[in-house]
Amino acid sequence: MRFVPLCSPVTFLVFFLSVVGVMVLMASISPAQQQPAQRNYEAEIQSALESAKSAAGFEFLGTLARNCLLPQSGGENLSDNVPEYVKDPAKAPPRAAWYAEPAKVFDNFYFVGGKIHSSWALTTSQGIILIDTIYPYNSEELILGGMKKLGLDPKDIKYVLISHAHSDHIGGAEMLQSRYHPRIVMGGPDWEWVEKYPNRYKTMAPRRDIVATDGMKITLGESTVTIWLTPGHTPGTVSYTFTVLDRGKPVNVAYSGGTAFNFVNNTPNPGIRNFQIYIDSQRHLAAKAAATGATVLLSNHSEFDNAYSKNRMLAGRGSGPHPYDIGADWVQRYFKVTEGCARAAQIRLEQKAAERGMP
Ligand SMILES: [Zn+2]
Repeated sequence: MRFVPLCSPVTFLVFFLSVVGVMVLMASISPAQQQPAQRNYEAEIQSALESAKSAAGFEFLGTLARNCLLPQSGGENLSDNVPEYVKDPAKAPPRAAWYAEPAKVFDNFYFVGGKIHSSWALTTSQGIILIDTIYPYNSEELILGGMKKLGLDPKDIKYVLISHAHSDHIGGAEMLQSRYHPRIVMGGPDWEWVEKYPNRYKTMAPRRDIVATDGMKITLGESTVTIWLTPGHTPGTVSYTFTVLDRGKPVNVAYSGGTAFNFVNNTPNPGIRNFQIYIDSQRHLAAKAAATGATVLLSNHSEFDNAYSKNRMLAGRGSGPHPYDIGADWVQRYFKVTEGCARAAQIRLEQKAAERGMP
């Protein structure tokens, strides 16, 4: 049988030489002659999300969901309208939607918040430091009613610390200031904010008092709360580190004053810079948490620190570990979640800016 070649030797030689030629040509192009390296935005976003997801574990699923998975809120409300629930208290959410039992969390630290939003009382020999004040429509029952149930006297409130000026945290501040005359501490930009929108903060905004600075110490009796400026969620958001006692043992707390992204569309450069401010604040508080040996991470929403569930676990603690005392590594993981989610969102904005031809 005669062998029939698929192509002639000459054709094969030409083909072979052209393949070798193309390969030599490709290898000879220096990196400088190639297009400038394109960023792989999708890979960068996935890597930031992966870092947040692996940090979250079960402990910070709520934080992960809000900042990485759910649609982000577009930006700050810039209207100056009196809220419906202030105009007509009947329009406030029903009690069943927000009521939670108060709880003694540590020897000298109490939960007086609701199902969703938290308020905390740090007790000292010289009076009480109250942190965050929930809404105008439920602060009286939750904070004052909760304190009374726990055997605390609201007249002992000497300081009210407000993490940021949103109505779910500043709502009870005016009432507390007018009834008990505590000193009120809030970030400078948030003092300006409530003064700029008097209708929006009707019945909520206290008269201007102490302007928080980074590292400011609020000392009452034997307790000191150190304030850290953590702008991001609002320009004046502040966070705290302090020590509580668990059955006599000191336990260090890092309190994150603002978690969700709330500023995406706040500036003409849509948010890239705001995300950097937020990321820098996460790193700032993470460093202070590490330096103070914080093993408890608190916030003003149960969604982020599981306060509501943990209060219920406390009842069955017995001689077991304290459900809030998660250890220094887990406290740091919270900040990896918030930073990773913020970085992913920031890269998305960088990609959009690049597509529009902006640097
Ligand atoms: Zn807020």
